[in-house]
Amino acid sequence: MNWEDNVRRVTPYVPGEQPKDGQKVIKLNTNENPYPPSPLVFEVLKSYDASSLRLYPPADAAPLRDAIADHYGFSGDEVFTGVGSDDVLAMAFLTFFNSDKPVLFADITYSFYDVWADLFRIPYELCPLDDDFHMRLSDYKRPNGGIVIANPNAPTGISEPDDIAFIEEIVSANPGSVVIVDEAYVDFGGHTALPLIRKYDNLMVIRTFSKSRSFAGMRIGYAFGCSRLIKYLNDAKYSFNSYTMNRLTIELGVAALSDGEYFEKTVASVVRTREQSAEELRKRGFTVTDSKTNFLFARPSGISARELFRKLRERGIYVRWWDKPRLKDWLRISVGTDEQMHALMEAVDEIRDMSGEKT
Ligand code: PMP
Repeated sequence: MNWEDNVRRVTPYVPGEQPKDGQKVIKLNTNENPYPPSPLVFEVLKSYDASSLRLYPPADAAPLRDAIADHYGFSGDEVFTGVGSDDVLAMAFLTFFNSDKPVLFADITYSFYDVWADLFRIPYELCPLDDDFHMRLSDYKRPNGGIVIANPNAPTGISEPDDIAFIEEIVSANPGSVVIVDEAYVDFGGHTALPLIRKYDNLMVIRTFSKSRSFAGMRIGYAFGCSRLIKYLNDAKYSFNSYTMNRLTIELGVAALSDGEYFEKTVASVVRTREQSAEELRKRGFTVTDSKTNFLFARPSGISARELFRKLRERGIYVRWWDKPRLKDWLRISVGTDEQMHALMEAVDEIRDMSGEKT
């Protein structure tokens, strides 16, 4: 017997490559927002009284939790916060997926879902998206121990047409399990399932400050659900680590949330650049899905996605490519500033000219 026989072995999630500090790259590989956080965040940070850091933070992150609840028209006991939506999702998997029946999610979706399932020994089954990367409703109408839906989906960028009715049909067909809707990208053009929270007690909607509020480095995620569901989530969280969100994060999160004008402006810029960049890529022969997120999912022609990924990387432009059967012909390109996207198009043209082929 060896101690290694008792190790909980997992194959971890692989995040996008982070360049070393000081290295100049155009980073379009982790769906960060190209704009800085709201100026109000800078103000709070400048006058922050660091002496308060000797105290533990409020374990329920109440100032931020209640600000989120107010903002979206819920009460504090219908909101949960965590260290990024990854933390919220992990806690939700641990809390709600405690059945012998498989949890269901798409074969192409956020690649952390199967990692948490493996980590927590949760059985799961993949539901293949159709050839246009859409979910098939019938897949979600069979016995299951829970359902997870990223809407809009990643890395496809696709939002289900008529999403609310689609999601409602899944939620209402599964009163015996919790349905998690991951709305990490919803602010860029998807439709939210939030109105359904008051109607169904088995629905949980998860969101993040990382993308639309330019706060990936701060780590704030949040979720809505009926108060009973949120209580179960808190019971698990307080049995694991109570003080997850630090004092500074709570305060800066409140500041970021309060600047609605800045939020609208930066989201609109990202959406405008996304549409222009999709058009530019299509002109260059790419197939591009109808993204409702802050990234593009694009299939080049005349060059393999792998080769283009490699050649862009050589030129200091990072995008994301997966060596997986249904994904290997595609690149996921985060929407940067207009200048960054211009540099991307120039690089694509240069690569095409050098290979003597039309991409
Ligand atoms: N859900 C989806 C679909 C994502 O793409 C991401 C970003 N990697 C997350 C959740 C997690 O984001 P964060 O932990 O930064 O909130």
